[in-house]
Amino acid sequence: MRSRVAAVAALAALLAASGAGPAPAPAQTAKKKRARPTLAVTSLIVPTGRAVSPDRPFTVRGRVANRGRRAARALLSFTLRTRRSLRGGRAYGVGAGASLRVRRRSSRRFRARLTLPATFPVRAGRRLYLRACVRRRRGAPTRCRTARRAIVFGARAVEAPLPAPPAPPPPAQPVPPSTPAGCGAGARSTGDRLFPQIGNGGYDVEHYDLALAYEPIVDTLSGTATITARATHCLTEYSFDFHGLDVADDGVEVNGGGAAFRQDGDKLVVTPPASIPDGSTFTTKVTYGGMIEPYTDPDGSNEGWVPTPDGAFVVNEPVGAMSWFPNNNVPADKARYDIHVTVPQGSTVFGNGEEVGVEDAGGQQTWHWRHEHPMSTYLVTATNGAFVRSEAQHDGVDYEFGVDPAYGAAVAVAQQRLAVSPDASDFVENTLTVDYPFETSGGVVDVSDVGYALESQTRPMYALLPGESTVVHEIVHQWFGNSVSPAVWSDIWLNEGPATFYEWLFEERENGGATTSAEFDAIYEDPDYDWSVPPAQVPTAADLFHSSVYTRSAATLEFLRQIMGDPIFFELQHKWLTRHAYGNASTADFIALVKNESGEDPAKLDVLFRQWLYTAYVDGEKPDINPDNFDSYSP
Ligand SMILES: [Zn+2]
Repeated sequence: MRSRVAAVAALAALLAASGAGPAPAPAQTAKKKRARPTLAVTSLIVPTGRAVSPDRPFTVRGRVANRGRRAARALLSFTLRTRRSLRGGRAYGVGAGASLRVRRRSSRRFRARLTLPATFPVRAGRRLYLRACVRRRRGAPTRCRTARRAIVFGARAVEAPLPAPPAPPPPAQPVPPSTPAGCGAGARSTGDRLFPQIGNGGYDVEHYDLALAYEPIVDTLSGTATITARATHCLTEYSFDFHGLDVADDGVEVNGGGAAFRQDGDKLVVTPPASIPDGSTFTTKVTYGGMIEPYTDPDGSNEGWVPTPDGAFVVNEPVGAMSWFPNNNVPADKARYDIHVTVPQGSTVFGNGEEVGVEDAGGQQTWHWRHEHPMSTYLVTATNGAFVRSEAQHDGVDYEFGVDPAYGAAVAVAQQRLAVSPDASDFVENTLTVDYPFETSGGVVDVSDVGYALESQTRPMYALLPGESTVVHEIVHQWFGNSVSPAVWSDIWLNEGPATFYEWLFEERENGGATTSAEFDAIYEDPDYDWSVPPAQVPTAADLFHSSVYTRSAATLEFLRQIMGDPIFFELQHKWLTRHAYGNASTADFIALVKNESGEDPAKLDVLFRQWLYTAYVDGEKPDINPDNFDSYSP
């Protein structure tokens, strides 16, 4: 995902809408890519004095200034650090503040209520430094400020200060006659470092069949999710990630029969009537519904099923999928999908893959989409509303496009930008000699306040009028991210690094723009570049879309290209994509591939990866190993 050129694109939209005719694609100059943030946290006040209870929310205050010439939305995120300096120590995300709109050349006060994560180790007198960061949107440069004074936390209460809520009634389950040896409950986390609360163990989902009805006037979503999974151990109980919607009474069936269940925080816990044998395939049908609410992720941006004036914009990265269907919400559990969505007549639904059909039903229409390739939950979509549709065929791939008619005269501009998609596909295929991984493609441009674009599988979603480079970026993700998906969220740089790198390369080779080498220099020589966030080990979930994840990662790939030369570098990328096609791969897999295939000194490569991917630098420091000194560098 990315959206750095949103402001430029929006300006182009205005120009186009003013009657000047289709505007040319904005030039993606290197300057724009390094645009300085116009938002800054100018004060940050934390509670001091008495110890703050780690069990209760605490309030922080501050001010955000907008020094730009346009009003901007400010996304605030907060971390607590064990040291005031960014060097060493540990950081803990304490969630996002609400986003607030700041008028041009003015400032606004904010207040945020924050809570220490329950897993945080608290000793009496523990001192932590609050760091507040602000950005205009995901992937945009951030400005951070660390509070001068530490917050002193007391010991966590041994007894809950408030009476515990009444325990839910025990599930009315028929007790199995006996529990075979070796059976047990599936884990309720897969241990993702950045999102320790997500993921579920004990099974592997093979297929989701979603049959949903959406009533946009009342923002209500209801229906069923039928989840076919294979048990990876004998299960007496298992869970799904599920947030904000309610399961109906008797709303869970396992293999066609009623099953006990409970909603426990963001987990739907299912107790099947009899244990599920290891290796067997089982289906869980969940009937649910409720008022839909977008999910605010740790960096303050919205995702999930986000209502728009005429429908909903549906994007999930990283964990918003659980706010509209129950699932195993980790990139590593990929599955196939059938998505049926009933919407008012006149609306169009865009799901992933191919459109199977549309059926009329009493003033409503049910759209059916099917995707036969494995897909991570963060890439599922069902964006709906009023759209001007168009189709194209290129190189055996079916393209489905949609543009919100609210763009008016700029609809044609949006269509022109989307038409870059096949060119971008050709570019990747020709550069890496790897076919486009799917049979379908396209893109949807919708008016939504989400404010970013996402590479939803086969059908990128743009909540903005995309510039050409944004379209290239999201198409590149179909290989890097969608076919080869990250193993865990810390591997996000394996998505955003290549998407940014090939965006640069497209600009160089197709448009005669800046070279990838010039892009590298622009970062490495920039005295203000923020080296504090290591892309393969972002400190917290709020840093997942830090600009470093895009540009420092892309610069790392450019570093590798320069030392290996084009033939070896692109061959290595080819191997990466073919070896892990339709699966998942980790940073360790990438490093092993480079060490095995590049012919470079593994000890020096270790230094390169450690410095460029894993080290936080502050106070004007930066990696000292670079393409010019790599040959002579002694580790
Ligand atoms: Zn991206």
